[in-house]
Amino acid sequence: MKKSFVFPRGTSDILPEETSIWCALESQARKLLRNYGYCEIRTPLFEETNLFARSVGQTSDIVQKQMLNLAAQGAQTDAEDIQSGSLSLRPEGTASIVRSYIQHNLARKEKLSKLFYIGPMFRGERPQKGRLRQFHQIGVEAIGAGSASSYLDAEVIALSVNLLKDFGVTDFVLKINTLGSIEDKVQFAEYLKDKLSDQVDHLCPDCQNRYGRNIFRLLDCKNKACQKIIHQIEFDFSYLSQESRDYYTVVKAALDILGIAYQEDPCLVRGLDYYTHVVFELCCDKLGSQNALGAGGRYNCLVEQLGGPQVDAIGFALGMERILLASSQESIQLNDRLDAFVVALGDEAFLKAFQLLFALRSNQISADMRFSGDSLKSQMRQANKVNARNVVILGQEEIERGVIVVKNMDEGNQDEVPLEDIQQLMIKLRT
Ligand code: AMP
Repeated sequence: MKKSFVFPRGTSDILPEETSIWCALESQARKLLRNYGYCEIRTPLFEETNLFARSVGQTSDIVQKQMLNLAAQGAQTDAEDIQSGSLSLRPEGTASIVRSYIQHNLARKEKLSKLFYIGPMFRGERPQKGRLRQFHQIGVEAIGAGSASSYLDAEVIALSVNLLKDFGVTDFVLKINTLGSIEDKVQFAEYLKDKLSDQVDHLCPDCQNRYGRNIFRLLDCKNKACQKIIHQIEFDFSYLSQESRDYYTVVKAALDILGIAYQEDPCLVRGLDYYTHVVFELCCDKLGSQNALGAGGRYNCLVEQLGGPQVDAIGFALGMERILLASSQESIQLNDRLDAFVVALGDEAFLKAFQLLFALRSNQISADMRFSGDSLKSQMRQANKVNARNVVILGQEEIERGVIVVKNMDEGNQDEVPLEDIQQLMIKLRT
């Protein structure tokens, strides 16, 4: 027996009955993002591996365990730049956007680049519900000298919240925290080391390693024993400079004035190296263990770190699969209905109906028909199946009387229009 193929583990097919909801989600997102002044950017799905290692952080789980490298083996001979592992599928969006921002010198073109992206990301994770190897994100990055403002932080956070609300996700919590400036982060790391110094032996082996290499990651550990130790830490914010505290106070005041509810969580640090100042996460408990719908934060040093000018930036990414799991999908406005399903009965009617089908389509009326010469009943069943708004019926009898029958499928009423008067037919189908 021949082997049949299935999609790779941790990926999925989005079938036609699901694509309408994906398209609706994307177009609703685009509308809101444009409404906030963000423009779409599209970057390659793979980049130099080093870009991710330098931005996300060499010690991050993403770089250590989840990068999907492109193998040299089997590569075309002209693709000499592909050495094993030198290119990787993108695990997240920020690094690529910053690379593009620097490469195209956007800093010279505008003081603030307000960018968004929608597309697939790839991580070699152990698949489970809500955790895939290919998943999709809607993300935002606001980069440039003009990004250095608490009000922009509030705008970006509010945008992430309002996207979720717009998609009909209601039961989520916004958690926020501040890590302070890059200098404050050094103090913060020292503070944590000091608080945990006599507990190191009680931490899990991963966290014992994190204690020395990147102590912030320890706060994300899911191990129960580590969690207990972490929750005993008293965060007095003494590691933050006055400037960083003032900055954070204005972010919170701006969120308050917008009526955006949040919970402050001093343990929230996010797993990636590049964050400074505000970090935030959107969680929904009904999703189970993979409960993060999205997350983001400020990254004031990354552009310079990757060879660009010293400009500030902030962004977030929302996971689309998890949004679909958490949303009440009625809030996503589907636009997948056909305006008209054309039913033809008899050879002569078929020819006329075929002509009519194309006339409707060229007048921006979405229309379809079946060419298999089925009975009226079977064609009506098809019209129902594709959820057509109207059925346009043309049989021998209608041709003899010079009319077309139009049936409104929502209201169930039926009308006739003259066969030669396509304008009248279109008015009917548009109302
Ligand atoms: P992160 O960059 O890990 O904070 O990811 C941002 C958002 O993307 C998360 O909150 C999830 O909603 C989504 N996400 C991240 N990794 C995965 C994954 N492996 N499968 C599905 N969604 C994911």
